Order: sequence, then C-alpha cells, then structure tokens
Amino acid sequence: RAKRDGKGGYRFFKPEMDAAARERHQLALDLRAAIGTPQFALHYQPQFEVATGRACGFEALLRWTHPIRGAIPPTLFVPLAEETGAILPLGEWVLREACREAATWGLPLGIAVNLSIAQFRQADLCDVVRQALAETGLRPDRLELEVTESLFLNSAARSQEVLGDLKALGVRISMDDFGTGYSSLATLQSFPFDKIKIDRSFVGQVGVTSKGGAIVRAIISLGESLGVPVIAEGIETEEQLAFLRRHRCAEMQGYLRGMPRPIAEYLPLLAAEVDLRVA
Ligand code: C2E
Ligand code: MG
Ligand code: MG
Ligand code: MG
Repeated sequence: RAKRDGKGGYRFFKPEMDAAARERHQLALDLRAAIGTPQFALHYQPQFEVATGRACGFEALLRWTHPIRGAIPPTLFVPLAEETGAILPLGEWVLREACREAATWGLPLGIAVNLSIAQFRQADLCDVVRQALAETGLRPDRLELEVTESLFLNSAARSQEVLGDLKALGVRISMDDFGTGYSSLATLQSFPFDKIKIDRSFVGQVGVTSKGGAIVRAIISLGESLGVPVIAEGIETEEQLAFLRRHRCAEMQGYLRGMPRPIAEYLPLLAAEVDLRVA
C-alpha cells in the first residue's frame, strides 16, 4: 500500500514540477515582453531628514502589473529578471525613467535607484549611467545608486573598480540593507560609501524587546564615526521615529511617512517643498 502511495505520489509530483517550471518560463517570457510597456512603472517612496521632517529624496521602486496575474512583487520578478538577463534592459529603463522624472522636480532632492549585481557584470554600466544623466539633464549629485554587499561576494576587485568609476561621474553610492549580509563591516571598509541604509529588519526590533534598538543605535554611531550619513528603512511607528530622533539618525524612509506610490500622489509634497525653499 505504501508502495502504491509512493508510486502515485511520484507520478503526481513529476508533472507538477514541470508545471511550475513551465509557469516560471512563461513568466520570464512575459517579463521580457513587458519591458518598455506600461506594465512596468516606477513608484516613489519619500525619504525625510529626521531632525527637520523635510523631504530630502525619493527611492524609485519598480512595479510590475501582469495583465493576467496582476501585481507581481519585485522580490519575485527581480530575481527572475536577473536569472534571464532581462535585468539589463529593465535596469536601464529604470535608471532613465527615474532620472527623467527627478529632473522635472525643480528641487535638489535626491533620487535613489537600486542596482542589481548583474548590472555590474555588464561591460558598459558606467556608460549607461552617464547616458541616462546626459539624456535627462539630471545633475549627477542628485542620483544615488543603491547596492548591496552581495556585490562584494565575488569579483570584489571588479566591483570596487566599477563603483569607483561611477563615483567619478559624480553620482553617490549607498549601501542598501546594511547588516543583513555576512560581512557588512568588511564591505564598509572596502569602499567609501556615501550613505548607509539600515535594513528594516533591525528597525522592526525597536521597542519590541528591551535590546531591540541596540543594533540600530550601533549602526548610527558607526556611521557617525566613519562620517557616513545613515538612513533607516522601514519606519512604521512614531516610537521608531522618536528612537531615530533621540539617537540622531540623519534620515528615514518608511510607511509611517510615505508608502511607495506613483509620483503624481506626491506632487503636493513636492509643491510644499518648493514653498519651503522659496520662503
Ligand atoms: P529595497 O531596495 O531594500 O527597498 C525597500 C523595500 O522596503 C521596498 O520593497 C519598500 O516598499 C519596502 N518598505 C519601505 N518602507 C517600508 C515599511 O515601512 N514597512 C515595510 N514592511 N516595508 C517597507 P519593494 O518595493 O517590494 O522592493 C523589494 C526589493 O526589490 C527592494 O528592496 C530591491 O532590492 C528590489 N527592487 C525594487 N525595485 C528595484 C529596481 O528597480 N531594480 C532592482 N535591481 N531591484 C529593485
Ligand atoms: Mg533600495
Ligand atoms: Mg533595503
Ligand atoms: Mg533589498
């Protein structure tokens, strides 16, 4: 009986595997076909100075609305795009679109764009960035490129070289998801990052346990010692924001003050910033 179950299980299992693989393959094809169509759009999440509460920039976050499956999260489609190489044309589109948008604001706010490791293996990443800036007229110092330490796992030397070339263009380089990898501290030493982004998994611990804020506090003071500004991601509560204020974290980003949304929804915020700056 057990044998029959086993056999039946085996026969049942195999076609299911194929179905999953087929579905993934189809999704990869759909993804490539969707590049350059309105299925892909950027949402923008505001970032704020903790001390003043004023907006200081936005992070561009990619969204994919599949015609049949609806919204597909980037945690699913970005890795898929990386596997198939589609991240190269997709990443170029993100860069150009984010620069184009930010150039229209008439405000010196930063625009942060996430880069994937695959884009660093591309021969001409620097040219791609230079071209996006030239085409859109965005000042290089307004563009902030976010990378994670996975970039340094393999080919660290090459990554350092490309990062150096990017920095020479005048753009800024941020270390995203700080503290979640295996060698965050070593990574920090291997390149002069312009900003450290505290991962939201640490922020989420603030106020949860008695020592929940210890790591956030330690990263803030690490940034202070190194002279690198720190931004905390994933701020969802007033308590977490008060904690950042108390420990003089430079910037914050999180649902508490703004979700990633189409830029149209932030035009009032941008207008208010213009008024503030003129006043
Ligand atoms: P990330 O770069 O670390 O982006 C921050 C993520 O945290 C975003 O998720 C954002 O929506 C989410 N987040 C922000 N504030 C809060 C909060 O208060 N609470 C919670 N629970 N979440 C918050 P999202 O948009 O789903 O993106 C996930 C990841 O996908 C990004 O992580 C980034 O690694 C990747 N990604 C997104 N857009 C792009 C892109 O254009 N290119 C590349 N290469 N990767 C991208
Ligand atoms: Mg990011
Ligand atoms: Mg992050
Ligand atoms: Mg991430």
